[in-house]
Amino acid sequence: MKNEFVTLSPGKTNCYLIQVNNGYLLIDTGYEKDYSNFLKELDEREIEVSEINYILLTHHHDDHSGFTNNLLKETEVKIIAHEYAEALLKIGENDKTRGGGYINRRVHYLSKIYKLLNPDWDLTFPPVRLRDNDILISGDNKGILRKIGIDGTILYTPGHTIDSISVLLDNGVIFCGDAAMSWPLWAGIKYCTIFITDINKFYGSWEKIIENGAKEVYPSHGKPFEIKKLKENIWEYSNDSLVEFF
Ligand SMILES: [Zn+2]
Repeated sequence: MKNEFVTLSPGKTNCYLIQVNNGYLLIDTGYEKDYSNFLKELDEREIEVSEINYILLTHHHDDHSGFTNNLLKETEVKIIAHEYAEALLKIGENDKTRGGGYINRRVHYLSKIYKLLNPDWDLTFPPVRLRDNDILISGDNKGILRKIGIDGTILYTPGHTIDSISVLLDNGVIFCGDAAMSWPLWAGIKYCTIFITDINKFYGSWEKIIENGAKEVYPSHGKPFEIKKLKENIWEYSNDSLVEFF
């Protein structure tokens, strides 16, 4: 059956493996330190690393591109990303040049506690250098996924970061990266990502996701949820609600 996928959770980031013509496309990696767990989860599902032909990075952040280099060393794989990701991946640090902030005070406070408990958490990751045969997209893309055997399209979904993209399958399943999240809902995030660069662009991406017929949202953080959650919570926050991050 087409577009079958498995969810792997080697750390705090969900990674999704979608079947392609002759292997798998991996959506996102986790932190660098999650790599051994990732290999273990692959093994449990009897999938070889060499079966991964493509890595689609939903954006450059440390918890999404962390073990990309490990995979590049291990197997022949092409990276698919937004063209804005290229320079950011090369720097190896979450983009701090475009402002933004935490979604609310509670998340801001929780992040301070998290930093105390995890002093190594510094928003850096091993820099990733893209190669000539990697695939950069410049906006919504209807062609590339079909070419490799996935019934779906790529949507440009900025707002969390400038380089955020999502994968929308024809059956309504969307892998949105950090364009929305369902953890930690108890902190009042209302399905927003805990960090936002530009909330107008962010909710604009929700509108695009809704208009394009998404039904079930598979985020990088938290459990899948129905699209109605985005419809119910859209525009609940504004840029004024953001709490300074940097
Ligand atoms: Zn992110």
